[in-house]
Amino acid sequence: MIEFIDVHKSYRLKGQEAPALHPFNLKIKAGEVFGIIGHSGAGKSTLLRLINLLERPSGGHILIDGEDITAADPARLRQMRRGIGMIFQHFNLLATRTVADNVALPLRLAGKSSSAQIHARVQELLARVGLSAHAGKYPSELSGGQKQRVGIARALANAPSVLLCDEATSALDPQTTSSVLALLAELNRDLKLTIVLITHEMDVVRRVCDRVAVLDSGHIVEQGPVAQVFLHPGHATTRQMVSEAHGQGAEAFDADYLELGGRLLRLSFHGASTWSPVLSRIARAHQVDFTILDGRIDKIKQTPYGQLTVTVQGDEADAAIAALRHAGIHFEELHS
Ligand code: ADP
Repeated sequence: MIEFIDVHKSYRLKGQEAPALHPFNLKIKAGEVFGIIGHSGAGKSTLLRLINLLERPSGGHILIDGEDITAADPARLRQMRRGIGMIFQHFNLLATRTVADNVALPLRLAGKSSSAQIHARVQELLARVGLSAHAGKYPSELSGGQKQRVGIARALANAPSVLLCDEATSALDPQTTSSVLALLAELNRDLKLTIVLITHEMDVVRRVCDRVAVLDSGHIVEQGPVAQVFLHPGHATTRQMVSEAHGQGAEAFDADYLELGGRLLRLSFHGASTWSPVLSRIARAHQVDFTILDGRIDKIKQTPYGQLTVTVQGDEADAAIAALRHAGIHFEELHS
């Protein structure tokens, strides 16, 4: 539904072209939550802003539902933009307007509804984001999470099919982040809303995205389903971002593990195998001992996953490792 074809973008700085995004192709499917992750300066905001043409590409085409937005005349562009809502890290609310007026603004600008219709729609939107009781308040009277909910209600006012989220939870505390991410997941599910979000936090991607692209210095260095990219990162930047999400340094390998003897493995479980007692069964069958050195069990969107670093000790270690492979557990053997 959103397709980038040979798109690139440079900014003009002191008379020189500075590339922000090198030529790339990318497809974002209707109804998915697509994450774009990268460090600061990687080109995330630029990529997001190309979708609603807040930034114009230096070359290439951007198709929304098959229509080239870069070729739209100003009237058509205004119309297409109504189908694309956007929320921001710092909410961008009008401080002198009430919550209800902030949400009503895009409806007034569209100029298609009567006052009564606008009032009804604002009530509906505020109920949707859990703010019915706050319609008459001003932004300064709200918490960060509430302000972002107003931003979301405003972005949804014209019933867009796409929502762009620009670091939407980066200014929020962890608990508020969770509730805003849960709201985004609910909107994606209930309204079939396509969500494109940019973030520098792998945890945000892990919790809500279906697919992800990793940006590094203006290049898409990796993309795919979140489970694949998160559990088996192929690029150094992705590995670093996953390690950060796990609260580890860039290098998770600890040389002390080798002194424990045995074979050192990093196991990844995804889906049903996460909850099944694979290790204890294999330990019994092959008379081996597993020592768990490091581990994490959590969810990627709704699907459980686990990652464990273990040693395997015993005469039948080879057979135990073959049994792990047979059980469909992905693993890599770690060496110094
Ligand atoms: P991110 O969102 O990943 O932090 P950006 O898309 O904001 O990255 O920036 C990518 C690169 O483009 C950076 O080098 C940044 O300095 C540059 N850049 C972004 N916006 C502009 C602009 N309006 N003018 C000039 N350079 C810009």
